[in-house]
Amino acid sequence: MERLTGKTALVTGSSRGIGRAVAERLGRDGALVAVHYSTGAEAAEEVVATIEKDGGRAFAVRAELGVPGDVDTLFDGLGAGLEERTGSTSLDILVNNAGVMAMGQPEDVTPEMFDRMMAVNAKAPFFIVQRALTVVPDGGRIINITSGLTRVASPDQVMYGMTKGALEQIALHFSRHLGPRRITINSVAPGSTDNGGELFRIPEVREVLSKLSTFGEIGEPAAVADVVAFLASEDARWITGAFIDASGGTLLG
Ligand code: NAP
Repeated sequence: MERLTGKTALVTGSSRGIGRAVAERLGRDGALVAVHYSTGAEAAEEVVATIEKDGGRAFAVRAELGVPGDVDTLFDGLGAGLEERTGSTSLDILVNNAGVMAMGQPEDVTPEMFDRMMAVNAKAPFFIVQRALTVVPDGGRIINITSGLTRVASPDQVMYGMTKGALEQIALHFSRHLGPRRITINSVAPGSTDNGGELFRIPEVREVLSKLSTFGEIGEPAAVADVVAFLASEDARWITGAFIDASGGTLLG
């Protein structure tokens, strides 16, 4: 039997990139996976189809995050999908993965850009955790995807780094709050990871990014997904409130 058989999982932003790899991995481990997306309906259905082809169970849920009513929309869709398939809205594993990144000189950051990024990367995950706790049973798992950029200086990503720094605070403080319920909550920080985007098709960019990891390679989404799958499993029951460096040694200095 797979190690997550009988469990349910929500992976935000799993229509592509790291989220997709996480959803597919949790699906292979036996969880019923809610594949959340915002604009990529077709891509999300493709992820669902891939999970089903591998013998797993999944369904897609749409919600734009960072806008008023986002958490209600997400949990309405999630609850309906879970209820239909399991007869309950219980959610065992939450992976807050959806996020936006932007680069630019610190001088060019506007209050509007700042508010938008903070809303998607930090505010939405906080309120998703808050809502999820009404349906996550004792022994549940919460994993937030942050970034190695909370540990290394990169001036043109100061705004992004701030949002991920805020996101990391959730695991630290909630871990004390959730200990009595045996719910673990952790941050996973990837380094540069090939999410299939345009940037990763440019050879000069690949060369620079691959040198960041001590392994001399750009990260693959599946490598991050394996770390998330471990944290979601029973084997990781004694890890909570932690910052897990999943950057391939990018942060070694
Ligand atoms: P990605 O390929 O850009 O995919 C982002 C996902 O998030 C998509 O599924 C997208 O949905 C969803 N999303 C974005 N904005 C959203 C919004 N406002 N509302 C709802 N969903 C939204 O991302 P990625 O590169 O795999 O990164 C995944 C996570 O890892 C992010 O939190 C990112 O900050 C973090 N990270 C990435 C790297 C890297 O090098 N890739 C490094 C460190 C940390 P739709 O496409 O359906 O709209």
